Amino acid sequence: MENRFKGIQLTRNEDKVMSVNVAELGLDDLMEGDVVVEVEWTTVNYKDGLAITGKGPVVRRWPMIPGIDCAGTVVSSENNRFQPGDKVILNGFGVGEVHTGAYAAYARLKGDWLIPMPKGMDGRSAMAIGTAGYTAMLSVMALERHGITPERGPIVVTGANGGVGTVAIAVLGKLGYEVIASTGRTGEADFLKQLGASEVIDRAELSEPAKPLGKERWAGGIDGVGSHTLANVLSMTSYGGAVAACGLAQGMDLPSSVAPFILRGVSLLGIDSVMAPLALRQEAWARLVDDLDLGKLEALSTEIGFDGIIDAAHAIIDGKIRGRVVVNMKQ
Ligand code: NDP
Repeated sequence: MENRFKGIQLTRNEDKVMSVNVAELGLDDLMEGDVVVEVEWTTVNYKDGLAITGKGPVVRRWPMIPGIDCAGTVVSSENNRFQPGDKVILNGFGVGEVHTGAYAAYARLKGDWLIPMPKGMDGRSAMAIGTAGYTAMLSVMALERHGITPERGPIVVTGANGGVGTVAIAVLGKLGYEVIASTGRTGEADFLKQLGASEVIDRAELSEPAKPLGKERWAGGIDGVGSHTLANVLSMTSYGGAVAACGLAQGMDLPSSVAPFILRGVSLLGIDSVMAPLALRQEAWARLVDDLDLGKLEALSTEIGFDGIIDAAHAIIDGKIRGRVVVNMKQ
């Protein structure tokens, strides 16, 4: 293990002005943990974009190494679940927010947060999926638990060209659902159809204030957008349907009414990936091995190196990233 290594560090001065630096770090710069992982692959999620651009209050401890997820190899462990050489995945638990994260050659983590790499998956695929893809899977599983089967009708996926959206479309398509993709980038309609969408709609149809109830258009939804979009998705969900809400790309507000809930029995299912219990995480990662076509994963991923992380973080906030960004830390 190298004594000094490269990482991205966020610092804040006494006026709370943030700086982003590529710094030479040592193990002393990493927070407490019982497992040290060599980071081989990571990714750039929307939340990482918020952290690096300072556009959202993601980082709550300074200085911080951002990066909310990674895949790598254990180099030392005081946790009896893990031995040096084990391949692992980390996502959530406040890593990259309140615990030093993935954008460095090494991460010191709690063994209880780590998931052994599922059979049939490698570090690159795991990070091409990343927190966004795993959140998409949690959302699909929530709809299934609510009894939303493909026979019930179409599922709308908002933020379709984003990380959550693209993986959700690919998984739902493979599971036999009819998928309606809502996007601001309708020029990407062919790409979304190749992933598994049957229909592509302009997100402008969903982004203005919603009526209490609209025409019943779908049995369920996966929404990474929030605000008016989620309100419209709810108002157009058919009787007894359900919507998994996982994001806030349009806004954190929910300017809706109770009409879909009390007049159509629609359910709003909250999705949190960060503190999801281990059993649910393991189930989601295992399901991704079976329910996500690796060819499609490849089509929706772009590979960059460590030096590309900061630019990608700005691009994701500007809505310029299509699909998933996977970071090869050895590049
Ligand atoms: P991306 O930036 O990859 O995708 C978000 C997509 O939302 C964009 O690609 C765009 O899709 C759409 N979008 C962006 N701005 C707007 C807007 N103003 N109005 C309507 N649509 C918009 O992010 P991710 O897919 O990684 O994450 C999606 C959301 O889910 C984020 O808010 C993120 O914070 C959240 N999230 C939550 C998790 C949880 O635990 N609950 C875990 C992971 C992510 P298009 O161009 O197709 O219109």
